[in-house]
Amino acid sequence: MHPLRQAAVIVPLLLLVQSAVGVRRRLASVTEPRATFALPNFTVYHRQDELLREVVDIVNANPGFMKMDAFSERDGAYDAEVKVVTIEPGGFTNRHHEKVRMLLDFGEHGRELISSELGLLLLKTLASREGVLGVFPGELDRAQELRRLLGGTIIKVLPMENEGGRRLVEAGRLCERKNGRGVDPNRNWEVDWGTKEPDYDPNEEYPGTAPFSEPETKLLRQLAEEFKPHVWLNIHSGMEAMLAPWDHVAEIALEARPSVDILQRIFQDVMTNTTCVVGSGGKTVGYLAHGTATDYMFKILKVPIAYTWEIYGDFKAHFDDCFRMFNPLDEEGVKDVLQRWLRAIMRLVELMPSHPALKDSKAWTLPSSGGGGGDGSASGWTAEAGGAELTHQHGSDGGQGNVQGGGTAPTTGAGATTSSTTSTTSKTSSTTGSTTTSTTSTTTAGSQQEDGPATTAGASSSSSSSSSGGSTDDQPRIAVVASVKDWGSNWNAQLSSGLLAVLGLAVVGMLAYRCLSRQGEDPRRARGSGYQPV
Ligand SMILES: [Zn+2]
Repeated sequence: MHPLRQAAVIVPLLLLVQSAVGVRRRLASVTEPRATFALPNFTVYHRQDELLREVVDIVNANPGFMKMDAFSERDGAYDAEVKVVTIEPGGFTNRHHEKVRMLLDFGEHGRELISSELGLLLLKTLASREGVLGVFPGELDRAQELRRLLGGTIIKVLPMENEGGRRLVEAGRLCERKNGRGVDPNRNWEVDWGTKEPDYDPNEEYPGTAPFSEPETKLLRQLAEEFKPHVWLNIHSGMEAMLAPWDHVAEIALEARPSVDILQRIFQDVMTNTTCVVGSGGKTVGYLAHGTATDYMFKILKVPIAYTWEIYGDFKAHFDDCFRMFNPLDEEGVKDVLQRWLRAIMRLVELMPSHPALKDSKAWTLPSSGGGGGDGSASGWTAEAGGAELTHQHGSDGGQGNVQGGGTAPTTGAGATTSSTTSTTSKTSSTTGSTTTSTTSTTTAGSQQEDGPATTAGASSSSSSSSSGGSTDDQPRIAVVASVKDWGSNWNAQLSSGLLAVLGLAVVGMLAYRCLSRQGEDPRRARGSGYQPV
């Protein structure tokens, strides 16, 4: 063979070999096994039932300003229940249209146990004045101000949105993030629903058959439509980040800029010396996410402050070591994460009045007791000690929502009325200690959200058997150049076409390597897995 021809063959081959070695090295570095895969330590973490039981206990101990509703929805054989705790630190009142409304969602993805732990800690903290005072210890003036601000808020907390997915995780499928029948609750929303990235993996982010095909998302959308929150906070794990819209394009929405300013201040005050990043979901996380709850809350429901917070991630974890990847393992790690992000939530409360949509809110001038029920016991903890400052409103201000036989439950939702309801939706109430649940239909269009019987935080055990769709054996998404071995098959037949093929494939090989290198730069790839936090 002519030396030039030889060179023409050898050079691309060398390039090809170099690319292949690079790819192999890269794969080796990301798939290096750990000796053991971590399992959840249930002396550190709560089991699902324990956590929900604690939530019920907290609510029952504070009937004056806390109540819980359980909403359920059935689709065919699939049942889902979403529990929602309402907290009015200033006491139940009918002046909801004047208050600032926050909707906080925990446990949307099954494998992110740490998320629901933060939800539980938040409820414990909001249960008493002392709890809130303890968030910024030694800063009394700050605590007083925080108390005043909280007195003007209504907070709805979903301690565990995705109970079906969480059940699968506790049954051993530690990498499961989807709901009880294999749909990702954070891809089932309408904004840009169903768009698939080149590396789309149905095991990870199957969006369902249509927007809102899933009971969990349907219930949450309905709740949000009625409650009309000013603040939406969706708590996940997989990395440390505070994200604002958009998730489906790699830019910060113009109207989200003021909320990003707030994130930057939270970052400065609470997140220094962490790996936490601030930005839009689409740009910061390293991949675009389509059909997310946060994009819907912001774009369709016009929630002015809409965030996804990622509260923990172990980038070094093996790609199948999911518990370690998404959750701190030991007690100290858990405590550290929870305390930091609890402070972040309270810092957000402090900063809410700086947002243009909230700075002139009447909420900040409401009396500290916020009203109270007919017998006065419905005042919240933000009232001055001794009740001297209690401003008793007229009786229609509502009672204590969840006291047995305590009359009508208060209305919430900014006086909003239900715009549409689903015929299978029901609201369940039960009394603590009772295993029976009574289900009352609340499906009349135009009815108010919180009507129905007085509820004592339900301990209803939703025993829906979940049919799983989608397998758990998620694989890493790094694509290997697979057809190398076939490249030489035509070599002897036609040298010229073979040369062209080799050159072409060498270019493909190099591009593949460069692509992998670039992927390695984003947090998800750096972790060596295709697992997604958002
Ligand atoms: Zn998540």
